[in-house]
Amino acid sequence: MTAVDLEFDQLNSTVDALRRSISNRLMYGVGKDAATARPQDWLNAAALAVRDRLVARWMKTTRHQYEQDVKRVYYLSMEFLIGRTFTNALLALGIYDQMKEALAGLGVDMEAAAELEPDAALGNGGLGRLAACFLDSMATLAIPGFGYGIRYEYGMFRQKIIAGEQVETPDYWLRAGNPWEFPRPEVQYMVHFGGRTIERDGHVQWIETEHVNAMAYDTVIPGFATSATNTLRLWSARATEELDLSAFNQGDYRRAVEAKETSENVSRLLYPDDSTPAGRELRLRQEYFFVSATMQDLIRRYQRTHSTFGRFAEKVAIHLNDTHPVFAIPELMRLLVDIHHVPWDRAWKLVQQVFSYTNHTLMPEALETWDVEMLARLLPRHLEIIFDINAEFLKDASAHFGHDVDVIRRISLVDEYGQRRVRMAHLAIVASQKVNGVSKLHSQLMAREFFKDFAHMFPARFTNVTNGITPRRWLAQASPPLSALIDQHIGTHWRRDLFELSKLRALKSDAAFSSEFRAAKRRNKIRLAHRLMHDTGIMVHPDALFDLQVKRIHEYKRQLLNVLHVIVRYNRIRAEPERDWVPRVVIFAGKAASAYKMAKTVIKLINDVGEKVNNDPLIGDQLKVVFVPNYGVSVAELVIPAADLSEQISMAGTEASGTGNMKLALNGALTVGTMDGANIEICDAVGRDHIFIFGHTAEQVDDLRATGYRPRQIYEENAELRLALDQIRTGYFSPDDPRRFSDIFHTLVDWGDHYMVLADFAAFAEAQDAVDARFREPRQWTESAIENVAGMGQFSSDRTIAEYAHDIWHVKPVDVS
Ligand SMILES: *Cc1c(COP(=O)(O)O)cnc(C)c1O
Repeated sequence: MTAVDLEFDQLNSTVDALRRSISNRLMYGVGKDAATARPQDWLNAAALAVRDRLVARWMKTTRHQYEQDVKRVYYLSMEFLIGRTFTNALLALGIYDQMKEALAGLGVDMEAAAELEPDAALGNGGLGRLAACFLDSMATLAIPGFGYGIRYEYGMFRQKIIAGEQVETPDYWLRAGNPWEFPRPEVQYMVHFGGRTIERDGHVQWIETEHVNAMAYDTVIPGFATSATNTLRLWSARATEELDLSAFNQGDYRRAVEAKETSENVSRLLYPDDSTPAGRELRLRQEYFFVSATMQDLIRRYQRTHSTFGRFAEKVAIHLNDTHPVFAIPELMRLLVDIHHVPWDRAWKLVQQVFSYTNHTLMPEALETWDVEMLARLLPRHLEIIFDINAEFLKDASAHFGHDVDVIRRISLVDEYGQRRVRMAHLAIVASQKVNGVSKLHSQLMAREFFKDFAHMFPARFTNVTNGITPRRWLAQASPPLSALIDQHIGTHWRRDLFELSKLRALKSDAAFSSEFRAAKRRNKIRLAHRLMHDTGIMVHPDALFDLQVKRIHEYKRQLLNVLHVIVRYNRIRAEPERDWVPRVVIFAGKAASAYKMAKTVIKLINDVGEKVNNDPLIGDQLKVVFVPNYGVSVAELVIPAADLSEQISMAGTEASGTGNMKLALNGALTVGTMDGANIEICDAVGRDHIFIFGHTAEQVDDLRATGYRPRQIYEENAELRLALDQIRTGYFSPDDPRRFSDIFHTLVDWGDHYMVLADFAAFAEAQDAVDARFREPRQWTESAIENVAGMGQFSSDRTIAEYAHDIWHVKPVDVS
């Protein structure tokens, strides 16, 4: 087929050209004229004008990839926490100022319009945000990469705080349309569930299944300051039968659409409640749905240029972001063996060459397993394949370990204790050529403790790739004042090479630079103070120390440790109100999983403490406690640049890496943190003098547990801590319901304090005193803040992706020139 030479308008990006484009897009794309256009219409028109400018690059990159027959990376993730796209795309294209002027010429305030864009919140927290940073870096480095996931109609719930409690409302992010995506109704794959298997002509067939179609939606991912772009392909469920016409004609309208509704539920919602069997089954369906479509899609793409599977492993790398996409392994086996008739052994070799897996958590309760019975019902062929893989694996393991029954039981892909379950992490490890943790400590714990038997069998398979964040979003976009200041002094290239920031070290004692640095921070604090006033009615003073703990609410992250310290501080100030305290604004934000009762109680406690503290006339501006609702990417972009202090206080050994810690340090916040996850590497990078490290190390946590941890003893011996805990227990902060927080008290004092909050309390309070002392010395504080920014080079996700590309995926950048 010869392609026709298309004639289309080459779009340049002068202010005039942009203004014409926006007008055209408003008229012909949105279907409005200037007289009736609402701000949302202007935003959509402007977004389409930007998208038009990305498309040419996209086509070009795709063509180059195809012509150079490049190896492609397929990054599979159940979550992509992208946030907004408009400003990000303008900065990537280098047309921010031009667009702002073009819109101003049309009477539109760009920054106000940009606030109308909903966040694409197709993720929950760090894991989904990591995937989004990776897309940005892959495109910027011109690595041919595809993100694959699910186009949830409803993203992460929207959090409202009503009377201090979390209230969840659905996040229908597509309400106003999504100008960034291209529906691809021609790209659809059938995904099967249920049924049974039979053998025919020497091949297994999976028959009598129900099915749903997966339809592709593509989003362009622009690289920064390069014409390289990538694609995020998200699957949406489409019923294979639209309407039961006979039911409809008989007037049974509900039944007529019922089957369609049910099958399309697969892509309805991120995180169906998994406390019920129906919720768990839906989650399983989601996991299989998106990997089945993805495996079919990548095989089809490979086969467009190859007639055998001989070069498959040279052209394909498949990365599993945690275990949620692990059904890709048996699905690829099924497609190769049952559909394409590749012999089992050869197929297994291919699988072991193309897959790699990132582990994100070692907490036993978070390691995913699936009930064998449910799998037998929903994915009978995949269960057979998993059993076959397991049988071979256990043979190898017996050869390796000798007949050590305990080891074999520990490492089997099937947990045989009680109800049989498939261990997804084990399947991922056995099938992958590389397995990585996300910080040095986490990778060590993984190979030495949690998966030590596997590491013994496959020592070369285990590796570390420390997480990173994209400096484009987390500094250039989130903090215009600090970015502009850095640009003035060291140029603009840090956006693509974050190690450039080390040049700031030379300026750390420069009085003029320091004062401009403080001024930039202050502007961000004022911006936040205005928003807090508007959204919560709480007035905060920008000269106070802004202390942030923003992340999902979870016991292991220990928001409780922070709250206890707030209470102790409150009591101290009340005891001596006239003393010269360092004024603080303690800011919390984060969502609690909807079924996680303790986390929700913690949110209520924070708000009840805030209510008391903020309204106490004795306290005034010395202490404020604010809970910012609906934490997500856009809230993070608002609050992080305003932080003086970053709370990274998880119990050592529990936070795999953390990325919030990196974003905050990059924005000049000093960290108070435990020796956990990437905090350890941040400490090395910024220097021990510029970070406040406290508390038990992972090793000390183990020792303490082994020798018998007695939290009640700590409670009894520390008077300040005891008072705070008693206040919680007796309703000092909840006079309307004095017993509201008694479970929090008992969890900490009587029920074992699993995350060792009390064990670290005294050290934490001491570290906070050191924070205050440093903050009293603005010169010193600013020097430390600059050291933090300057040390962040290695935490760019560009470095992370370069390591994945070189060490794990073995892919090279595509030449787009
Ligand atoms: C970075 C980020 C996270 C991860 O934060 P941690 O402190 O590493 O847990 C979670 N949610 C959002 C919206 C983020 O931007």
